[in-house]
Amino acid sequence: MADPENQDNDQDDQNFPMEIENGHITDSNSGPEDESSDDENIQLANSDTGEYDRDIPTTHGYLGKLNPLSGYTIFEDGDQLHILAIYTDTLVFPGFTLPLVLYNYDENRVMQNFIKENNRVFVLLCANSAYSGIYEYGVTMEIYETKQKRGLLHIKARGRQRCRRLPGSPLENVASRIRLVTVRIVAEPAITSPLQDTQLLALKNKRKWAIKNYSELSRCKVYRRYHTAQYPFPFWIYDMNEVSYYIKVLLDALSSYGREYIPTDPEKLSYWFAQNYQLSHEERLQLLSLKTTLERLKLECIFLKLGRLICCENCEVLITDPAQVFVMSKDGIQSNYVNPGGHVYETVTVLSATNFQLVGNPSKQFSWFPGYAWTVMQCTFCNKHLGWKFTSNNLNPKEFFGLAKSGFKILCQTPTIQEDLTASQEQ
Ligand SMILES: [Zn+2]
Repeated sequence: MADPENQDNDQDDQNFPMEIENGHITDSNSGPEDESSDDENIQLANSDTGEYDRDIPTTHGYLGKLNPLSGYTIFEDGDQLHILAIYTDTLVFPGFTLPLVLYNYDENRVMQNFIKENNRVFVLLCANSAYSGIYEYGVTMEIYETKQKRGLLHIKARGRQRCRRLPGSPLENVASRIRLVTVRIVAEPAITSPLQDTQLLALKNKRKWAIKNYSELSRCKVYRRYHTAQYPFPFWIYDMNEVSYYIKVLLDALSSYGREYIPTDPEKLSYWFAQNYQLSHEERLQLLSLKTTLERLKLECIFLKLGRLICCENCEVLITDPAQVFVMSKDGIQSNYVNPGGHVYETVTVLSATNFQLVGNPSKQFSWFPGYAWTVMQCTFCNKHLGWKFTSNNLNPKEFFGLAKSGFKILCQTPTIQEDLTASQEQ
């Protein structure tokens, strides 16, 4: 897809011998696009409702057919690894996908050798909150598909575990965005009640610890009162540390996105929120650094309370309201896509937008949403590249917008996070 911000990438695009259209290789000189001829081999929509198949974008079919690799690598908590890392300006949480096209010759050579030597796991690093260096936390990524095509290495990798750079360890430059780092794995501790070990053994059997549904908790109230009567705690201290309570708050708030796409498992939900909710870069880094699922869920509930607006990154004019955000891919609202120049875009899908103008004609080449044509959109006031408008004659929805994370910023309304944190601690 076109990258109006980065002229260098555009130059790279022009050097392509071929274009890749919706995952099929076509000759770039094949003349004007035929709107009706593409995607004939893919079932794009439910034949009854015409509703777009949300599974399609998750396959990143625009990269074409890649070769699958097997494996699922999970390290022990505290394991120390000296490992290859890729530094990008995008953030991927465990469970989510990162597509990459390595167009730089040196990066390509290093990663090819890395894969040839049967390595599958690398670390994804991103910028710190001030964008002045690399953040200390990262995520291990496991390559699950790869292929060398026309001199470019195509990779799909999935986030597995959080890790932290060893303080004081060197960050060696290997090639362009590739580094060699020493990290320590930060594994997820099992979810238990923080008060579990203070419970009398005789009462443990009567108290349900892992309750999935918050409404069921009321049955346990009497045991909670008995239990906390032994300590100088009020009985509502249970709720403050009750995972099912925070799950309920988050799921209720996210219900407009469609429950079927949102996981209910506490750890998966906490990462889904971190990956998909409209958070600032700093807020997401904060979530990446928290030790437990419960801490993440708690902070996410605080983030939920802040009013937010999606504004132009440059001039801060309003682009859309978070209520317009919707799920277009099974991976979520905010997914990573890569353009032919190798630039990874974190993209948010919204149903409507304002203060933008369209540039150029619709194109279906390398479309991240097969079946849809894209047109570049810019800010009306400052010409900042905001993302793309996607349109289709026969799919439902007929149009939507993919906003590039690099084109917008989230402006939070009061109260500030600090005030809110203090308020919740005083409760
Ligand atoms: Zn602007």
